[in-house]
Amino acid sequence: MEDCLFCGIGSGDVSAKKVYEDEIVVAFDDIAPQSPVHTLIIPKEHYKHLGDGVPAETLQSLFSAVPEVARIKGVAETGYRVIVNNGADANQTVGHLHVHVMGGRAMSHGMVSFSE
Ligand code: AMP
Ligand code: ZN
Repeated sequence: MEDCLFCGIGSGDVSAKKVYEDEIVVAFDDIAPQSPVHTLIIPKEHYKHLGDGVPAETLQSLFSAVPEVARIKGVAETGYRVIVNNGADANQTVGHLHVHVMGGRAMSHGMVSFSE
């Protein structure tokens, strides 16, 4: 999709600090990390929301990449948080489906913001 930042990262047109990549997804470090480890996983294809007809295979790849990213980033054993901000009330700021993987520090149990 034109003018989509994360489509640009997915295609390699926009640079990012890539952590993991396969045929369907790309993972890269968040540009404004809210924790020592803060990596985003995106499908290379453009979907805005989880409810946008995302194929099951793509959802499987997105979530299968989570423990792989955690392992690469060194938080598989210490634990990490997985977040999908989906739509306006969740304050989704980039309209291309993405999964946040956050770790490297203890987090409270709130669901309010990244930085709590
Ligand atoms: P969300 O609020 O869930 O839509 O999260 C969007 C995330 O994308 C935020 O954590 C931003 O810091 C991050 N972000 C925005 N632009 C970039 C970029 N060019 N490279 C990496 N992460 C980005
Ligand atoms: Zn996109």
